[in-house]
Formats: sequence, structure tokens, C-alpha cells
Amino acid sequence: MPMPHAQICREIIAVSQALDTAGMVPNKSGNVSARVADGFLITPAAVPYRDLTPGQIVALNAAGQPAPGAVRPSSEWRMHAAIYAARPDVSAIVHTHSPRATALACAGRGIPPFHYMIALAGGGIRCAPYATFGTAELAGNAVRGLEGRRATLLGNHGVMAVGVALHEAHAVAIEVENLAGEYLSMLSAGLEPLLLSDGELQNVVARFADYGRLKS
Ligand SMILES: [Zn+2]
Repeated sequence: MPMPHAQICREIIAVSQALDTAGMVPNKSGNVSARVADGFLITPAAVPYRDLTPGQIVALNAAGQPAPGAVRPSSEWRMHAAIYAARPDVSAIVHTHSPRATALACAGRGIPPFHYMIALAGGGIRCAPYATFGTAELAGNAVRGLEGRRATLLGNHGVMAVGVALHEAHAVAIEVENLAGEYLSMLSAGLEPLLLSDGELQNVVARFADYGRLKS
């Protein structure tokens, strides 16, 4: 039986507040959404995460149109709508400006596969080209960055992480920030990471599936 909207709204708030507490969505940045039968539910624009209530989570149809009288959705609703349209495997999206991943994104750098935990993202993480926030161009760039992956960096902007459920998209977003920190440490020490092979990454992806790491 599908989860009722009220429960999904509470989960969206829990994930948003955890991201806020962790410093991953500074200054009301970022947004969180979850797919429902008739569209998706997304955090509103300009409401501090600590003040969010379930009634402020915005329901949009698949085209991104809100119900009459709804509060204003996150300015990035187009990215979420485009990803749900392109990716039937995705049921939840977390967008952050987490600082270490965003630092790499501001240099146009993705994250190469130097640690096996990058298999949570499906492999090496791209950095999608910059486009103005809220635009269809950025939405298209995000979809392309995510091809075959559960995460992409957004040039000069931040991170998109996706999953089959909110807890998975949240876990991917946390791991992207962790990997970005490891990568920055190597770069600042002048070290060159040793990369894992595609075959080994696929091996880890299969093992994660076995251990239920990528399941809801
Ligand atoms: Zn953003």
C-alpha cells in the first residue's frame, strides 16, 4: 500500500532538518522531494527548515503545477520534475549546497571513483555544466549529469542526489559530501588518487544490493 502523503511530508521534513543540522543546506538552500502517485511533494521556497510543518510541503503534479492556493514550491521544482520524468527508478531527490562537494562543483570537478563507497552513487560522479538556478536548462543539465548515477554535482552550484526512497537519497547526499572531503584532502596534499576499475565498482554495486544498502 502506498504511504499516505502526511507520512511522506513528515519524512521530507525529517531529512530537510537533518541536512540543515549537518550544515549541508546553508541559508535555506537546497530542497527535498518525494514522488507520489499523481506527481511529487517538495519543500517550499524560503521557509527555514526548523520551522517547516507538513502543511507547508507543496504537492505538484508531474508537470510541476501546484494545487490552487498552495504555498510557493522550492525555486528548483523544475529540476525535480525533470528528474522524475526521466528516471522511473527515482522516487526521492535531495538537493544540497553541501560545502565540500560544492567547492569541487565551483571548480567544475566531478568526483572520480577512488573509494568503493562511491558505488552508492553508481560510480564516478560527474559535474554538470552551470546554468542559472530554477531554469529548464539547469534541469536538463542535472538529468544528463545523473545518467546511470544516483548523484551529480551541479557546476558552480551544489549537489543532486536521488534514490528509491528518501533515506537512500539522503544517504547518497551524505556520502557525496564525505567523498568530496576525501578528494579535497588528497588534492590539497598534492596526492593523486588511485582509481578503482569499472569491474570492481560493479562488484561493489552488486554486493551493496546483496546487503540491502540500496534498497528501501
Ligand atoms: Zn540549489
